[in-house]
Amino acid sequence: MSQVEANHRRLQAHYRRGDPGPFIEPRADGASDWQLIAHFARLAVRQDQYVLDIALVDWDGHRPYRRWTAFQGWSGPPSLAQRLEAAARALEDEGLFRLCYWCGQRNNRGHMSGISLEEADTSIPICQSCAERFFGVVY
Ligand SMILES: [Zn+2]
Repeated sequence: MSQVEANHRRLQAHYRRGDPGPFIEPRADGASDWQLIAHFARLAVRQDQYVLDIALVDWDGHRPYRRWTAFQGWSGPPSLAQRLEAAARALEDEGLFRLCYWCGQRNNRGHMSGISLEEADTSIPICQSCAERFFGVVY
């Protein structure tokens, strides 16, 4: 059984207990996009709808917190294929996640920073760790 199938079986067990469970279980290989979804997505049941919420990282001074917003709803528990399709769309949504121009990693929008370079007219998206390491930005 593949790990994806194993995760799906665990999710089915959550449904049987009436608990929507995690949207997607973390994966042992730490694949980065999958990790983002495991960390920033949750499945909730509201008014008989299964709702995928995605968290945007927001800041209370220096303290990060997750601000959840509904991304998609289903009338019944979403299948693994529906979850993967929704996850792929959420990852591509630049209001939620963005690629760092410097390291190429995708990050939560709330972990991104904009850097204005003299050569560029507009600010380019840089993750906060690259901003600290390579551009001397202090958070
Ligand atoms: Zn980066």
